[in-house]
Amino acid sequence: VTAGRHGPARDREAAPRLRPVDGDEVPPLRDRDARWTGALPADIDGALDAARKRIRTEQKALYAEGTRSLLVVVQGRDASGKDGAIRGVFAGVNPLGLETHSFGVPSEEERAHDYLWRVHRVVPARGMIGIWNRSHYEDVIVPRVRDTIDDGEARRRLRQIADFERMLREQGTTIVKFLVHVSRAEQRQRLVDRLAEDDKQWKFRAGDLDDRARWSEFTRVYRTILAHTSEKAAPWYVVPADDKPTRDLLVAEVVAATLERMDARYPAATPEVLALRETIA
Ligand code: AMP
Ligand code: MG
Repeated sequence: VTAGRHGPARDREAAPRLRPVDGDEVPPLRDRDARWTGALPADIDGALDAARKRIRTEQKALYAEGTRSLLVVVQGRDASGKDGAIRGVFAGVNPLGLETHSFGVPSEEERAHDYLWRVHRVVPARGMIGIWNRSHYEDVIVPRVRDTIDDGEARRRLRQIADFERMLREQGTTIVKFLVHVSRAEQRQRLVDRLAEDDKQWKFRAGDLDDRARWSEFTRVYRTILAHTSEKAAPWYVVPADDKPTRDLLVAEVVAATLERMDARYPAATPEVLALRETIA
């Protein structure tokens, strides 16, 4: 419990289960890495609820403080569970404090600008949590896999991205990045379900199968990204995501701990406001 601050005291829990990626030891992203093999609580739903509660508590203080922001980047293959993780982790957080954006195939206007333009204009405002479902990293992944840029240009973009993220951090935005990692077999099952179920077909794009056929090319680009943009202050976390409740818990714990480390403070009431206590009718 932290004392000596404005607003309610907050409990600080244990460190998250997931460790940030070390750019010098990039995880192999094999199929078997899509299953969490570490310890789990007996009651995963209860633990997820507890982590969500921590997120809610910190979000309120961040919003009240109004000087800094958190940017949560979510990347991953089709059907890896990006949407589900966002829903599972942020359900119950005050919607007024969230700015969520999905980045699809760039529009004509977006293509007429540099690739950071469309993301920069929607970075979270002070006091907000920004959630990006795909991100600027797509502009390394898609063109590299489709061979419209080479390794040299991919590296140049990753350097630009690292510079961009550093600028955001220096201006008060904390950044945390998740690569939601699904196995080939689990992705297949989810794509099959998408084709079978009336309320899921809308999510299926013809191109999803082309991307699936280029599995190892995607793996290679993801690993290049992890190698070159894993900063201590803007860490990547690879999320084993074949099991959905585990996925949500692992992500929620990191988000909660990241917010707690930001340690947002409620502003103290000004003397003018305190004086009004005496005058309110
Ligand atoms: P979804 O997230 O399933 O709605 O699909 C969005 C699609 O847009 C995915 O196939 C992405 O790879 C694609 N996409 C997102 N950003 C870019 C980009 N910068 N360049 C090309 N394709 C992109
Ligand atoms: Mg998709």
